[in-house]
Amino acid sequence: MDMEEIYSQIILDHSRNQENKHEIEDADITEPGHNPSCGDEIVLQLKLDGDKIVDAAFTGEGCAISQAATSVMCDVIIGKTKEEAKKLADIYVRMIKREDVSDEEYDLLEDAVAFKNIQNMPQRVKCALLSWKTLDQTI
Ligand SMILES: [Zn+2]
Repeated sequence: MDMEEIYSQIILDHSRNQENKHEIEDADITEPGHNPSCGDEIVLQLKLDGDKIVDAAFTGEGCAISQAATSVMCDVIIGKTKEEAKKLADIYVRMIKREDVSDEEYDLLEDAVAFKNIQNMPQRVKCALLSWKTLDQTI
């Protein structure tokens, strides 16, 4: 299996898997995100303990890419501080925009690196960015 197939598998798994798609009743942060170019809608919810993100989940509707990207993001940011999550959002946005990202930074993104090749599908770029931009606005 080459890397592209592994990446596709991660995206497919997350678009089917609803594990992170639910409401957090006692969420500290609830932030809606909207991508008008595709019609993607998400509501991102975070549970904080001090500065640390102890839970992250979302609800909403949209294309497979937007939903998978949001789900992967929830997995990646749980356990991180707000500052770390903000840094990850910055790296992710740079990756999607084909700007400089070091190998070390790619490692930090964990499974979110699966969206690297979204660059080759310009009409899906905003879908892949939606959740991370929503996160960045809220923390
Ligand atoms: Zn979309």
